Amino acid sequence: MKILVIEDEKKMALFIKRGLEEERYIVETAFDGQTGLEIALHNQFDAIVLDVMLPKRDGFAVLSALRGAGNATPVLMLTARGNTDDRVSGLDLGADDYMAKPFHFEELAARLRSIMRRSSPEKSTKMQCMDLILDTVAHVANRWGKEIELTTKEYALLEYLMRNKNRIISRSMITQHVWKHNFDPESNIIDVYIKRVRSKIERPGSPRILQSIRGVGYRMKEVISPDEDIIDDDDDI
Ligand code: CA
Repeated sequence: MKILVIEDEKKMALFIKRGLEEERYIVETAFDGQTGLEIALHNQFDAIVLDVMLPKRDGFAVLSALRGAGNATPVLMLTARGNTDDRVSGLDLGADDYMAKPFHFEELAARLRSIMRRSSPEKSTKMQCMDLILDTVAHVANRWGKEIELTTKEYALLEYLMRNKNRIISRSMITQHVWKHNFDPESNIIDVYIKRVRSKIERPGSPRILQSIRGVGYRMKEVISPDEDIIDDDDDI
């Protein structure tokens, strides 16, 4: 899952980013309101952490421009301690929650999980495709009854594909949801990551669940007839 942090105090922004990355989120940062708004409008995020006091455009202006553009990404606002007016204004403008600084990172993470859950109640904490199970709270995958080690990026890619199980996902959708906005569309990095994920979640003799659809994209496929899509030893996994 992808989170945008808009916060001009670099120390604070990096503290949040590092913490969220440890929890396996893909994190982008913006250090002023204008840049943050542009990134938010041109990319898909699962949540935005938005500071109120920002250069160029403050958090309220960013939030109202976002909501005005029909963007419903869950927003957690960071307000100055004890400033009740800020909280009320934020909620009025469509923020999903607010937190006063300073805060404990664990609380920020918990509130983010909560607003993301609320925004998409159908998201359960476990996703399954055949016997591959993804735990979206612990951010681990399991198959053949054992845990599969995934890097942050591999996990994000797999989670996105699993969330859209049985649906063909184009490369540009993957770019939008899993990579950062400065991604080079010419690069073959998606293929590289698909291969890496496959090498971890599939093995010879088992059905191919992460399919390539030539010229279109990829699909996590659950319903597989017994005689198709079995991976041979010499297949390119
Ligand atoms: Ca600030």
